[in-house]
Amino acid sequence: MTTVQVNTPGGRYPIHIGAGRLHKLHESVPDNVTAIAIVTNPTVGSLYLKAARESLVHTGKHIIEITLPDGEAHKNWETLQTIFDALLENRFDRKCLLVALGGGVIGDMVGFAAACYMRGVRFLQVPTTLLAQVDSSVGGKTGINHPLGKNMIGAFYQPIAVEIDTNVLHTLPEREVAAGLAEVIKYGLIIDAEFFNWCEARVSALKALDEETISYAIQRSCECKAYVVGEDERESGLRAILNFGHTFGHAIEAGLGYGDWLHGEAVGCGMIQAATLSAHTVGLGSASVERIRNLVHAIGCPVKPPNLGTERWIELMQVDKKAEGGQIRFVLLPEIGKAVVQAAPLNVVRDVLHKTAVP
Ligand code: NAD
Ligand code: MG
Repeated sequence: MTTVQVNTPGGRYPIHIGAGRLHKLHESVPDNVTAIAIVTNPTVGSLYLKAARESLVHTGKHIIEITLPDGEAHKNWETLQTIFDALLENRFDRKCLLVALGGGVIGDMVGFAAACYMRGVRFLQVPTTLLAQVDSSVGGKTGINHPLGKNMIGAFYQPIAVEIDTNVLHTLPEREVAAGLAEVIKYGLIIDAEFFNWCEARVSALKALDEETISYAIQRSCECKAYVVGEDERESGLRAILNFGHTFGHAIEAGLGYGDWLHGEAVGCGMIQAATLSAHTVGLGSASVERIRNLVHAIGCPVKPPNLGTERWIELMQVDKKAEGGQIRFVLLPEIGKAVVQAAPLNVVRDVLHKTAVP
């Protein structure tokens, strides 16, 4: 097992990474916890709830299970309310512990429920998708969707620990693995050129979820994310670089209607577009753009953006959270391993959209 430490003003906590961590969840339960609620969905529950419950039984605490419907469409108030219903019906007090067993949807919702229930109770992240293991379970962004916007209602709220079991990845659909790998590569691109090279040299082992390789990829990703959120928990500066590829990616997701492409797939393709824009604005070499395209392709993500129409693209990117006064701000790479956030002239953005467009 390896441990990555996260230190933010909102909380200090360990990320434990290893094969079989699902059987050791009790190690992360503080003694003074009064009761535990394991929150999951039918897909993950049918695979891993039994193992999670068995490990938590070792604590001797009262345990309940809450099963939420699976899918982004259920990341809303109604589902959140069912968590509160179960906690109140079972008389859970302020010393209870919520355990988020699932992907990013479960993690975001349970984290937000923990932030709100009795003005804040503890929660443990047990991420089961690659995306959740390398990204959403770390850093304390929690929340739900509003009909008018994704992740618009939420809180910064840190877990007490993150338990990452690499074994659970073997039941993930291949597309979900590729989508998670896009976020892994992202860390190399924005902050660690050496890690990008490392990934480039190990694509097949990464895709095959080779234990040693995927464990290191998760560890390094968590270290990168921990560093960034440690410097800037609430995204007043540096944390924005984690959005590399996301301005284009969000436009793909919103333009096609959420659910068509996976988030990580849209980010993968968006990183190629952002790299192309970087070549036009901050001097990223064309050989580097090519390397990025090749790696995104090799991990199994789409490399051709959908044809949304140039003006629709611009419109969609103008609603990005980083936009200021109608100016679209992008995370750009002067070189692999280094990111800056700045506005790009619209004529250059249009040019890049044409260049990367499906013919
Ligand atoms: P998800 O939670 O919907 O999981 C994807 C699918 O895989 C689901 O059907 C799920 O039931 C299933 N699944 C999960 N683990 C499995 C396993 N081990 N084996 C088989 N199937 C499994 O999607 P996701 O990609 O994990 O997360 C996406 C969500 O994360 C979005 O809501 C996004 O907004 C959020 N997110 C949050 C942050 C953050 O910082 N908080 C960062 C990135 C993404
Ligand atoms: Mg992302």
